[in-house]
Amino acid sequence: MSTRAPARDEQPGKDPHVQRSTHRRGGPGGPGRGGHRDRAGEQPRRGPRRGFAEELASLDGAQYGRYKGLTGVWELPEGPAVELVRAQSDPYAPPARVALRVPAELAGFPEEAYATPVRRRALAAFLVRRVAAAVKGERAVRVDAGGQEVLARSSCEVTTEGAVVLRLGVALPGRGRRIDGYEARRLFCELLPRVARRALEYEALDAGKVRTFLETVEDSDALRRLLPERGLVAFVADGAVLPRRSGVDDRPAQGSGVVPFSSPDGLRVSVELPNAGEVTGMGVPEGVTLVVGGGFHGKSTLLRGLETGIWDHVPGDGRELVVSRAETVKLRAEDGRRVERVDVHAFVDRLPDGSDTSDFSTENASGSTSQAASLCEAVEAGAKVLLIDEDTAATNLMIRDARMQALVAKDREPLTPLVDTVRSLHRDHGVSTVLVMGGSGDYLEVADRVLMLDAYQPSDVTERARQVAAAPTGRHAEADSFPGVVHRSPDPRSLDATVRGKSRIKARGEDVLTFGDHEVDLRAVEQLADPRQVTGVGLALELLVRRGWLDGDRTLSEALDRLAEEVGPDAGDSGLGPLLGVRDEDFAVPRRFETAAALNRVRGLRMLRPGDAGRTAR
Ligand code: ADP
Ligand code: MG
Repeated sequence: MSTRAPARDEQPGKDPHVQRSTHRRGGPGGPGRGGHRDRAGEQPRRGPRRGFAEELASLDGAQYGRYKGLTGVWELPEGPAVELVRAQSDPYAPPARVALRVPAELAGFPEEAYATPVRRRALAAFLVRRVAAAVKGERAVRVDAGGQEVLARSSCEVTTEGAVVLRLGVALPGRGRRIDGYEARRLFCELLPRVARRALEYEALDAGKVRTFLETVEDSDALRRLLPERGLVAFVADGAVLPRRSGVDDRPAQGSGVVPFSSPDGLRVSVELPNAGEVTGMGVPEGVTLVVGGGFHGKSTLLRGLETGIWDHVPGDGRELVVSRAETVKLRAEDGRRVERVDVHAFVDRLPDGSDTSDFSTENASGSTSQAASLCEAVEAGAKVLLIDEDTAATNLMIRDARMQALVAKDREPLTPLVDTVRSLHRDHGVSTVLVMGGSGDYLEVADRVLMLDAYQPSDVTERARQVAAAPTGRHAEADSFPGVVHRSPDPRSLDATVRGKSRIKARGEDVLTFGDHEVDLRAVEQLADPRQVTGVGLALELLVRRGWLDGDRTLSEALDRLAEEVGPDAGDSGLGPLLGVRDEDFAVPRRFETAAALNRVRGLRMLRPGDAGRTAR
């Protein structure tokens, strides 16, 4: 794509709605100070439009609550429009919501920079990071710039016409309970327009960096879309850097100890990307893939790469071309979670209390039952690839070796280990699995591919594994197929975000979603990319209810399909609108799987199933 900035004089006519007052109040030292110079650089123009600047100054010393009266759109001449979406009620409340709209002719991006949904998402992510850099040190201004992932975020949006919308939090300035009008004027009429000029206008940006960012994201996205036709579930480019700096720092590990990824010959494939051209790396084929190797040799790090491969990453991340299918779901054990009417009988049967595990509910699942339920729920929501790490899996759900089979008779053991159904999951249901399993050889028999990590270097040991597995262990299979899942229909009456008449949807870090009276524990939902995505999940749940997409009849999977038509990467537009309609808030658009995972963890949620009284069988 070309990165040439259009010259200013090529631009279409200015917006006729912008008032062109030349009145400047207060002389050179007044509010006009913040007014920027004309593009051509000759004449200092007037300051921001009288209206807003004057209004703010005149409110100086007034009751704080009068900020509310400023709600609405304020045009700044030659600059962005500023919208006060929601004023804060007092100085200690969460910051006011503000939107800055930079019209396309002012933003000045070349058309190809915003020609496709993925480029618009990438451009928005680039811009909001610039904004965050530009407002550094301004404590009143909060911009959600995101982390290493390039997600659709409400904080910045590039429209199909090339306009830019920045949404941010501004702590409205006050002295005690009085308005600090001059500081407000500085923020809104000087700082924000300046930020818009420096960070949201193409002319002020490094065109090469814009281009790299867009092309990186576009390649990653294209690669992900290419996987199915190549029969792959994931791709890890040669040279990728998988390890992170630390458990709390998601940037790439640095230093001479870092071993860049290098594909084993047997799995090396080459792909053709729109910008990078031909790229080689490891293609993980569909089916059952086992990752083995000694402890601390990089198994979990590789799996973690596949987990986050559902997202695009920023340039320099190391995982730009570490990509997995969009329908990839990480599973883990999660004792204590709630389970509502899941058919887990393929994994759990004949519980000591006699409960019916084809319609299984509990407020307090065990490690194995929680993982079994999460697996069935993931498949119900449409997962095509499951990722499991022995570090976080329930051993008794994963394996049951020959000696244990000899000691404990099958009719005394409720669990059927995944090793006996994992092949059928792929063969009969098209669901592939990538498993990290360094501690048991039982999976060698069922794996299509075995990958060994040795000092972070992968090799393809499938052949050797076959030879090893050829010697019988005396173990016999306990099941020959996975029967599939029962589709459930959430009862919308049991999902309510309102508390005392007001809707309450809040994220507490990455781990907890407050939804109405419920605290939804999301610690085990590991592919949530950041806290703002938790907010996104909450808004998506509320949207499902408000739009009536959960009606007690539609299955969860159908409701998620409906949601995906309007929210998310395939919604055509940015996919932000419907969630913003629930509440203008900093959020990132979630996947269907995390939305479903949160729903499945809401305590008190009721599920209806085919055959329930009063329901027609579906
Ligand atoms: P395993 O799951 O095999 O026990 P991990 O994936 O947890 O091993 O990795 C062990 C350590 O090695 C971690 O601290 C991780 O950051 C580091 N590590 C993983 N891959 C690499 C690599 N390619 N280069 C350098 N360090 C790595
Ligand atoms: Mg590990």
